[in-house]
Amino acid sequence: MSDFLIVGGGIIGLLLARELSAAGASVTVIERGECGKEASWAGGGIVSPLYPWRYTPAVTALASSAQKEYPALAKQLLDETGIDPEWERTGLLMLDAEDSNAALAWAKGVGSAMHSLSSESIYQREPLLAPGYSEGLWMPDIANIRNPRLLKALLKSLQLQPRVRFLQHSSVTGFIQGTSGEERSIEGVELLRNGQYEKVLGQHAVVTAGAWTGRLFKSLSLDVDVHPVKGQMLLLKPAKQVLSSIVLSNGRYLIPRRDGHLLVGSTLEYTDFDKSTSEVAEQSLYASALALIPKLESAQMIAHWAGLRPGAAQGIPYIGGVPGFRNLSVNAGQFRNGLVLAPASAGLLADILLGRAPRVDPLPYQLATGFSA
Ligand SMILES: Cc1cc2nc3c(=O)[nH]c(=O)nc-3n(C[C@H](O)[C@H](O)[C@H](O)COP(=O)(O)OP(=O)(O)OC[C@H]3O[C@@H](n4cnc5c(N)ncnc54)[C@H](O)[C@@H]3O)c2cc1C
Repeated sequence: MSDFLIVGGGIIGLLLARELSAAGASVTVIERGECGKEASWAGGGIVSPLYPWRYTPAVTALASSAQKEYPALAKQLLDETGIDPEWERTGLLMLDAEDSNAALAWAKGVGSAMHSLSSESIYQREPLLAPGYSEGLWMPDIANIRNPRLLKALLKSLQLQPRVRFLQHSSVTGFIQGTSGEERSIEGVELLRNGQYEKVLGQHAVVTAGAWTGRLFKSLSLDVDVHPVKGQMLLLKPAKQVLSSIVLSNGRYLIPRRDGHLLVGSTLEYTDFDKSTSEVAEQSLYASALALIPKLESAQMIAHWAGLRPGAAQGIPYIGGVPGFRNLSVNAGQFRNGLVLAPASAGLLADILLGRAPRVDPLPYQLATGFSA
């Protein structure tokens, strides 16, 4: 029997498995499909919230902690697996921040590098931008990471760990509950694998099921407000490099990858668990890309996909124990920022579960649940 059952093998579940197993615990990761193929694969990999000053201090605290951890994490994964997650400090250029005074004050307060740029400096930095941008904000320290590679490396490194077991293509359908004292306890989970129901026992269960978290908690009659928010993205391949930094304007962004590909993101759609792509979104994203860099007209369209973000109120994730249960925890709801927040989110829950000093104050992420009718 494992010390921990982790339900959901996205970036949050896998990094949690890494933290717990590194501390000597045995872990079983249970994943409905293949690990790292849902939101964590679909995302853009910007290692910062978009317009970071518009988020609450709870999101900033996790982002700041995680941003410090990322370079070392990427290097360790490369050394362990030979797969380079391509953490690249490209900087982030924002062209439409009408609240730039608030942004600069926020950056000063949290110690983040941010400069306001004149029109001339914008075009010195990115000469191929469409004309007409008169001011911008520049965050030189922001990086992007090639998230599909990050997930691949993470999975490979965990598969080399004797204390970590994977049950993929295994969908958790419910929890096996025990009766010990006043608090309820979880003895294990019930899952569906190869058309058969199986029971898997563990000392402690953690739900890291991304956008599906709220739905899974329904099996315990608990209301946990984590819901799917669809995002669509495009991948373009220009003949020559057109951009050196991440550029953000009107909520749309371009991310240059090391190999010359360019990501265009993203839509924000409330369509339940529908993960289909649409032509309307494709055209809209493409138009946003051309409006920023007209030269992209000749770029090749390589791919178009959608993913489901785990939405939670104000983008503040739930991290910690589930009230009323002795041995059930949650780590979900990172919304648009799950990649940037992941190392700190997973690290914080590991701190709590292992009785270590928490790296950030856990209070803002505590779950208050109600029983659903
Ligand atoms: C288009 C788009 C762009 C984005 N861009 C960025 C960005 O630039 N920067 C950033 O920080 N974030 C970004 N995000 C957000 C980020 O991708 C997510 O917040 C993050 O990946 C969530 O990770 P997760 O592990 O919680 O969820 P997921 O990666 O979705 O993993 C959850 C896993 O749980 C599994 N699961 C669900 N139910 C069950 C069950 N019953 N039994 C077993 N397994 C189950 C799923 O199959 C899935 O693999 C973006 C997201 C999208 C969609």
